Amino acid sequence: MKKGLEKFYDLVDAFESLPTIGKKSALRLAYHIVMNDSYSGIKIAHSIENALRNIKKCINCGSMSEHEICEVCLDDSRDKTKVCIVQSAKDIFIIEESKQFDGLYFVIEELEPEAVDKMLNFVKENEVEDVLFAITPSLSNDAFILFIEDKLKDFKINFTKIAQGVPTGVSLENVDILSLAKAIQSKVNI
Ligand SMILES: [Zn+2]
Repeated sequence: MKKGLEKFYDLVDAFESLPTIGKKSALRLAYHIVMNDSYSGIKIAHSIENALRNIKKCINCGSMSEHEICEVCLDDSRDKTKVCIVQSAKDIFIIEESKQFDGLYFVIEELEPEAVDKMLNFVKENEVEDVLFAITPSLSNDAFILFIEDKLKDFKINFTKIAQGVPTGVSLENVDILSLAKAIQSKVNI
């Protein structure tokens, strides 16, 4: 079956390599694009290329941006003394949607020395006074928070983390907005 349809199966494999897409869905999507909707296919291909070419990480905070510096970092109306630390840039979308936070963000995926130094600079430059950890509770994440707190111990910083409503071990993207909004409102001191 695959013989003579190599290009089709290349497309199926490409879809299947994406998260949440299994073999059946990959086959269905590839078939749909090739046989029923080539216009959408071309549009998607173009959007992907465009996005990959133009979207990068903000050099300050690590969030997604089409420019060197992201909109949040450039926005003067935001409270620069507050920073919300997230482990993934995609968590910023969810927190922004909850409209419960008006400070800056900082993305730190791994506790590597370079990333930690960048965070220290960010905190120093913005004269940060409040750090909110928007990190879901789990043993390794608690250690993550403790590590960062220790690195920032020489600054006069009030540390909080998002509270109830965020279940243990669940990624932020799977938390509904209302629960997240409540969790930010009822953040706890640590
Ligand atoms: Zn930024």
